[in-house]
Amino acid sequence: MCNIAFLDGDFTTLDQADILSVHALHYASAVFEGIRVYDGQAFMLTAHVERLLQSASIIGLKLDLTLEKCLAILTEMIKRSGLRNAYLRPIVFQGGPDLGVHAPGNATRFGALIWDWPDVFGAKGARDGITLTTRVPFKRPPEACFPSQAKSSAGYMIGGINRRQAVQAGFDDALMLTNSGHVAEASGANIFAIRKGELLTPEPIGILNGITRQVVMANLPDGMMCRECALELSMLLDAEEVFLTGSAYEVIPVRQIDEAIYQIGPQTRRVMQVYRSLTSKSLQILEK
Ligand code: PMP
Repeated sequence: MCNIAFLDGDFTTLDQADILSVHALHYASAVFEGIRVYDGQAFMLTAHVERLLQSASIIGLKLDLTLEKCLAILTEMIKRSGLRNAYLRPIVFQGGPDLGVHAPGNATRFGALIWDWPDVFGAKGARDGITLTTRVPFKRPPEACFPSQAKSSAGYMIGGINRRQAVQAGFDDALMLTNSGHVAEASGANIFAIRKGELLTPEPIGILNGITRQVVMANLPDGMMCRECALELSMLLDAEEVFLTGSAYEVIPVRQIDEAIYQIGPQTRRVMQVYRSLTSKSLQILEK
């Protein structure tokens, strides 16, 4: 290949601009995880790494690392960082230099970052709730059109565009619908509603079946039951309480969707409290 490239305003060499020959940058051949570290311990680490390997396999990336090796690297990474409360981001992606769409000769690479992670919507979000809008340009594609169960870079293009539009319209996040008009998920979180006293959440079809969603459903407060269903937007709009779940979002109340206003009610508070107790260090043995 000719050794000249152009990047950020200057002509340069290919080695100086090697990010440009990363396949994943051009074709979204990447999957990743978002893991919260609480008091030096990664919450649900095994489940996240299992999903990372599963996501890689779904999009056809062959990674030469075992689950155990990934776990050891990430655990060591947390230790070396010295961070107590952080966000851990492992990523599996197709490297270069072949920029053909089908480029079987490129290596599958593994990397990880860790950073100090403030609350996504701050303490105010957890206290007062956040606002969502469904008036965004793109719907979640059906399973037959998109590998929804992979946490892939490609999925975040849709989420990212929608979130940007939502923020520009004065809301905190986008609430995406499915192509058939059912409620799907927010740009980085799953959704739950309490309607007529019943806890409802969309079936995990065409959305990411979030680890936090599964943890919440497996650890409901006493007497609370959850029903998965094809959730109509109209059902959500006349719900009493709504909340989102995600590793980064944790459990966060929703106070508004479009023009509908919700109270930050007692059921949401109970779920938040259980989740908070699970993420506290002493209870992490619940993971497996
Ligand atoms: N849906 C989407 C689109 C997401 O990006 C996320 C965040 N990973 C979730 C749901 C929640 O997943 P988890 O609870 O595993 O973080």
